[in-house]
Amino acid sequence: MTLRPIEEQLARVLAAVRPPALERVPLAEASGRVLAEPALARNAVPPFDNSAMDGFAVRFADVADAGPEHPVTLRVVADVPAGSALDPAIGQGETARIMTGAPVPTDADAIVPFEDTAGGLADSLASAVVLAAPRRRGVHVRAAGEDVAAGSEVLPAGIRLGARQLSALASAGIAQVAVARWPRVAVVATGSELVPPGQPLTRGTIPESNSLLIAGLVAETGAEVVLRRTVDDSGDGPAEAVALAAELEADAVVFSGGVSAGAYEVVRQCLGDAMEFTKVAMQPGKPQGFGTTAAGMLLFGLPGNPVSAAVSFEVFVRPALLRMQGVIESARPAWRLPAGESWRSAPGRRQYLPAVIDRSDPARPVVRSASGGCSGSHLVVGLGGAEAYVIVPEAVTAVEAGDLVDVVLL
Ligand code: AMP
Ligand code: MG
Repeated sequence: MTLRPIEEQLARVLAAVRPPALERVPLAEASGRVLAEPALARNAVPPFDNSAMDGFAVRFADVADAGPEHPVTLRVVADVPAGSALDPAIGQGETARIMTGAPVPTDADAIVPFEDTAGGLADSLASAVVLAAPRRRGVHVRAAGEDVAAGSEVLPAGIRLGARQLSALASAGIAQVAVARWPRVAVVATGSELVPPGQPLTRGTIPESNSLLIAGLVAETGAEVVLRRTVDDSGDGPAEAVALAAELEADAVVFSGGVSAGAYEVVRQCLGDAMEFTKVAMQPGKPQGFGTTAAGMLLFGLPGNPVSAAVSFEVFVRPALLRMQGVIESARPAWRLPAGESWRSAPGRRQYLPAVIDRSDPARPVVRSASGGCSGSHLVVGLGGAEAYVIVPEAVTAVEAGDLVDVVLL
């Protein structure tokens, strides 16, 4: 059987994603959310011409010839602190003392900082002795609208809101924003061998780890985990979980395990009508299941090996969850780095190798397997040290030390 290209499987997944539902939230609740509409400035930034320095608001013409040899003395006629609404008239030979952020009087067109006067702050309420001419008109004046004009776009739709974005919106007078609803995701681990972590292991059992892995990846992708459970390999566990997820209004269910070619593939057996099971040209992560319920809930069937599950999430689930939020740019930062060791890659399959970046020579970082030269999809502890995936194209069967490879930072 020929393997399905990754892009083809991803296109099927993305085609099933519905456009995000919106909600309006105050800025203080918008951290981590994705902007659903362009945000337009309600006020200009800065809202008015204001001083960039503590000093004196002057008429440029009065002080254009000032210098240490020929100081110009101005009479201080007003004092304008930040927050003041004053707009004092400033006649020829006059000035107003002004603080950073205060509105520049209409009659003034430059600021002389205290540092350029003889008296500085200490002697600033009666007269100002200017020792240096401003370089030009407008100097140290922050112009209204210099950052953004009222009505202009502050941020486009599809941007995830973090600290810097929220402060930009706040400064533009925006109090609430339209954001995508958090996607709701159910995470279901399958396997009769799985016991909760920490429980004593009997022969044949292992600690269940994929549900934490996937729930964590869901959260990192900006979605909410509404259900996390483990079901065994007999019975209707997967179908019951889908019914419960629907009650919880989940947008997606992510299964791990039970999708490949063994005898007890419970996801396959239970959900064969709703999902398609296929083999994708990747390593790890070859067996993949995907489908939708009649109501449009996405069903992902990821292979159970932990590295396979992590890579499958990266390749198929993450892009879907980001699209559900309307994110415009979902690619992660990528580098090309020399391989620090050699390894093999299966022909005809794109390899995703959990990797670490070896910075022992800071001038020449190299990339290595996170599992010390091994690449087994069961090496879950090695995954714990991974900071990147190396992506090796389908046609490449061997990477030699020194070869440049594509590295995606996690
Ligand atoms: P499967 O895809 O169900 O055939 O599982 C493949 C391998 O992954 C088996 O060795 C399983 O024991 C292991 N595995 C499956 N699910 C989990 C899980 N939730 N936590 C840890 N290992 C798992
Ligand atoms: Mg299994």
